[in-house]
Amino acid sequence: MAATGTGGHHPAMPAGHAIGIDLGGTKIEGVVLDPGGAQVRRLRLPTERERGYDHILGRVAELVAELRPHAPGCTRIGIGTPGSLSARDGRLKNSNTTCLNGRPLGEDLERRLGLPVRLENDANCFALAEALGGAGRGQELVFGVILGTGVGGGLVIDGRLWSGPQHIAGEWGHHVVDPQGPPCYCGHRGCAETLLSGPALERSYREAGGEACEAAEVARRAGAGEPVATAVLTRYCDRFGRALANVIDILDPSVVVLGGGLSNLAVLYDRGREAVARHLFNDELRTPIVANQLGDSAGVIGAALCAAC
Ligand SMILES: [Zn+2]
Repeated sequence: MAATGTGGHHPAMPAGHAIGIDLGGTKIEGVVLDPGGAQVRRLRLPTERERGYDHILGRVAELVAELRPHAPGCTRIGIGTPGSLSARDGRLKNSNTTCLNGRPLGEDLERRLGLPVRLENDANCFALAEALGGAGRGQELVFGVILGTGVGGGLVIDGRLWSGPQHIAGEWGHHVVDPQGPPCYCGHRGCAETLLSGPALERSYREAGGEACEAAEVARRAGAGEPVATAVLTRYCDRFGRALANVIDILDPSVVVLGGGLSNLAVLYDRGREAVARHLFNDELRTPIVANQLGDSAGVIGAALCAAC
């Protein structure tokens, strides 16, 4: 991966090698990037989250011990994980690996690893990686969107992650799209996540009388002209359009990069885009809405890049 389009040393790139860890519920992935942003080494381990908090800390330490010999000059470790960080005390909230919630994960890992740690939300890592070395390269304001099991987002301005004083910038997954919508674990109703996640699309299809199947299958059936799937996908695209138009109205980003499993749905880039244009406060939509370029690698690469900011 090239870190910048210009070949110059990007301000967000580390001076030495960088280690990034993507700490997920089922696997922990680690990467070493050289100062030019190229991948030197990459490893993964199962998380084994059912064995609890201390075990997960140990798994991260194991991975870092394997990577460190390949990372001369590494002074900080970047760790990306689902959930959000409390700006008050740095503890994790809303992680689907529930044993991490309420724990001082960053501090505990620093003690264990003997190196400073930068903990970051996985959607922010995604946005940073795509902004510096993927579909948002060279753009001033990149809004990165995750549409998967959860829905999240991140903002990168001039190559730097903007997380905001409350550390909630880009959290479009929990802005309310429909106040009458389904209840969300966050306490609100009709958040983008409750309408646009993979499980939400699958649930809408079942509730409309379709059989249980994955989101990609719902899209395939709609493409084949099945009436229930078509109606459900039309409504999904409209909600996607409304949710994204809200963000574009406020930020007017240079580009929107889609990630997560649902970013593979081709319909988002034509009918989804048309729905954004319909809901936008403008007579035209010029914002590019594009698929990510780094795929599953964006999280771990973004975590390494975070270590340097
Ligand atoms: Zn919510």
